[in-house]
Amino acid sequence: MRIRTLIGSLGIGRPFPVRVESMVRTPLDQPEECLREIHSLHEEGCELVRIAFPEIGLADNLLKVVSSSPVETMADIHFDHRLAIMAIKSGCRSIRINPGNMGCSRSLIELSRLINAAETIVRVGANAGSLSRSQMEKAEGDTSRALFETVSEQILTLQKLGVERIIMSAKSSSIPVTLKANTLLAGKFRYPVHVGLTESGPGQRGTIKSCVAISSLLGSGIGDTIRVSLTGPSVDEVIVGKRILQALEIRRFEPELISCPACGRRRVDVASLVERIEPLLKGLPAELTVAVMGCEVNGPQEASNADIGVAGTPSGIMLFARGKAIGACAAAVIESRFIEVCKEQGYLLKNQI
Ligand code: SF4
Repeated sequence: MRIRTLIGSLGIGRPFPVRVESMVRTPLDQPEECLREIHSLHEEGCELVRIAFPEIGLADNLLKVVSSSPVETMADIHFDHRLAIMAIKSGCRSIRINPGNMGCSRSLIELSRLINAAETIVRVGANAGSLSRSQMEKAEGDTSRALFETVSEQILTLQKLGVERIIMSAKSSSIPVTLKANTLLAGKFRYPVHVGLTESGPGQRGTIKSCVAISSLLGSGIGDTIRVSLTGPSVDEVIVGKRILQALEIRRFEPELISCPACGRRRVDVASLVERIEPLLKGLPAELTVAVMGCEVNGPQEASNADIGVAGTPSGIMLFARGKAIGACAAAVIESRFIEVCKEQGYLLKNQI
């Protein structure tokens, strides 16, 4: 059993749910914009937000952002232990540091005292891109092992200083490297693990790589908090992260949408139907399943297994609710008919009625 920990009121590690994180794109020298981005992330369901804190001169801005943030924050710090101290004093309940670049042992002792006094959670994270030549040589060129050794060393340093509230992470842009490094770490220490790839790429490429890496790790029981790292808007990371957890049936955030790929038998334009129905799901309870199917071959069966189903027929669209056919309509009026069915079945959330 892994040790669980609390970042403020946010539980990390089983039995708490696997958490969804992201990292703010806006630099701290724009605190208002930074807060706006954090609010958008929060609205999308982000549970922990990491903020780069690169200069001591930005301390006032960090304080402003952290004190108004609707979600728990983690300050991302490198090279200067004074930044870590300032972040904790600004109210950050978690920091991401690399103890190996935090200066002399006196600095680390001072920082550790404050970490323990403030009950700060420390994420010890190593990325393949920042491994030194000597770390790679020590691991005989094996990047996974170098990541594992680096994080291990840093954890042992913190343990000697009495720091025990730790989350560990080891990332690379390579899936096999990341899987091996995390498997080694999870085998050695019982701290919660933050998982994800680093620099996984843009859009579909980054999404696919992240899904494969995160799912593989979660499937082997490794991972208590995830970040999908994408080149693009930070909210996309949260959407993809939530969908990975939902697809694995680990957590449920939104209604499940089942739709067929459409083939030569289709009676309706499935893609356009999905495009029109998908936005309406926001008003429905997360536990519902909605199916959108193209024809009467597989359509009725799949549609009738869902809470609400829509299937193309030679004369238009057949609607299903709780397993029963409940009427037909023309494709042109599907949005209004869909909302009516949701109302009749009592599915529409209060704020949507
Ligand atoms: S439901 Fe019908 S249209 Fe859709 S893929 Fe299956 S057979 Fe083709």
